[in-house]
Amino acid sequence: MASQVRTARGFIDYSLDKRATLLNLFKGVVDACDADPYLMRAAKYHGEKAGRNCPVCKKDRLVEIRYIFGDQLGQFSGRIKTPEELIELEKEFGEFAVYIVEVCRDCSWNHLCTSFLLGDGRVRKPPRRQRTLEDEDFSGNLGS
Ligand SMILES: [Zn+2]
Repeated sequence: MASQVRTARGFIDYSLDKRATLLNLFKGVVDACDADPYLMRAAKYHGEKAGRNCPVCKKDRLVEIRYIFGDQLGQFSGRIKTPEELIELEKEFGEFAVYIVEVCRDCSWNHLCTSFLLGDGRVRKPPRRQRTLEDEDFSGNLGS
């Protein structure tokens, strides 16, 4: 695949830490009660095929979701991005974290796979807040 990010660093492989749950990851970001439907919805609309079978139900419905977090991202912190978008973002921001979560769209298995840092190392101020399509998507009730 030609789309490769260039600045990846600080990898953490969570495969040895079965207790690293999504609830820990999203503490303060997503309400615990909403984590599951939120995640399944994200998997449906934003999941990228993982190319391997689910470790639980063995079906080929495993997808990966890439979340980005970081102070420099401003309003974009906590958003879901595609691998292609990450290539653009690493040029636009100094540093942010990427968390890759795998979700099975069949049995709802979910697991934090890995995290790493991206960015060109130049510190910038967070971007000005602006309304985006994603805002409407997530809040659903912005006035007209
Ligand atoms: Zn499964």
